[in-house]
Amino acid sequence: MKNWQELEQKFYMRIIKRLPVTLVRGQGARVWDSKGKEYLDFVAGSAVNSLGHCHPVVVKALTEQAKTLIHTSNLFYTVPQLQLAKLLVENSCLDRVFFCNSGAEANEGAIKLARRYGKLHLGGAYEIITTHGSFHGRTLATVAATGQDKHQQPYIPLPDGFVQVDYDDSEAIKAATSNRTCAVMVEPIQGEGGVNVPDDKYLKQVRVWCDEKGILLILDEIQTGIGRLGSLFGYEQYGVEPDILTAAKGLGGGVPIGALLAKERASVFVPGDHGSTFGGNPLICATGMATLKFIIDNDIPNRVKELGKYFITGMEKLKAKFNFIAEIRGRGLLLALGFTDDIAEELVLACLKEGLLVNPVKPNALRFMPPLIITEKDVDEALGILDIVFSRRSQ
Ligand code: PLP
Repeated sequence: MKNWQELEQKFYMRIIKRLPVTLVRGQGARVWDSKGKEYLDFVAGSAVNSLGHCHPVVVKALTEQAKTLIHTSNLFYTVPQLQLAKLLVENSCLDRVFFCNSGAEANEGAIKLARRYGKLHLGGAYEIITTHGSFHGRTLATVAATGQDKHQQPYIPLPDGFVQVDYDDSEAIKAATSNRTCAVMVEPIQGEGGVNVPDDKYLKQVRVWCDEKGILLILDEIQTGIGRLGSLFGYEQYGVEPDILTAAKGLGGGVPIGALLAKERASVFVPGDHGSTFGGNPLICATGMATLKFIIDNDIPNRVKELGKYFITGMEKLKAKFNFIAEIRGRGLLLALGFTDDIAEELVLACLKEGLLVNPVKPNALRFMPPLIITEKDVDEALGILDIVFSRRSQ
């Protein structure tokens, strides 16, 4: 057997801090490493594998489309792209869609669209208000939008036109708004920032302010969308509708896809303004279509809501037992345990040993974002492993 991790050391850019396992196979909520060890996967490709690994519906769509038509470019009409666009529009409050290849790219599109809107309707306003602790991607503009120093510092100077304010503080958004502002961009729950849940009224207050000022509300639902919070989109739980929404991650069931959605009045791009060679190609859209249709047809968001509650009940028992658990955060199947100390990395390694994949979203917090098709039994198994790992720690 090759030592794959040595190959990584030699040939791959030193960008990613990986766990010391090489995954070779997946099925449902389980993955196996190159030595045959099985893991329960509560990372799900960073909230991507919404239907778990190698779901038959995903595999069928991918293989059938691979035999039919893989790529054409956007110079032509293709069927899966338009079917998926229709399904997204019919199941959201948005009117139009543009497909790209990742979350960051969807947000780049949202930023460009908001700037076009600013030029056309807001006297050239171009500034976008985002929040501290947010994460919007790794391209230069999305790094500039991301409210985290560690992502910005290595790349200064960054593109101009972004202002950051505290999350969950609509007054701060009001104070930062000027005649340069064209949009506010927020996540319904901050994912990479640590699974930070704002007050229930926050998004509504931001919506009211955007309406008052005539500026756009962009919701980055790349992590929260496609069922993850227990509704198809997070905004549904907050009684607001965005002007622009971005989705990615769980939409493709594992294949790379991003979607930029907008209300009619905000869909101001004209031919030539934006584009993508690969974006929306038949292979990816057929797979996205099968994934999204399965999620909608089987009312997976409702199931996620139940599973989230079940998981939280179990977490509460752990919190009562271990005094280093400070907090339970999140909704649906985007959950986190916050600790009194920076112990997340050691816990991740201990869980790995016990056959559970979890993510250290912060030095003092573990994030759980399992496939949306897990069962109560999987949740019990994860809680059991956490109990074992936490018990060892408190001895
Ligand atoms: N926006 C949010 C809220 C995210 O969580 C992420 C990725 O974690 C991104 C944007 C960037 O997505 P991608 O990594 O697909 O570019």
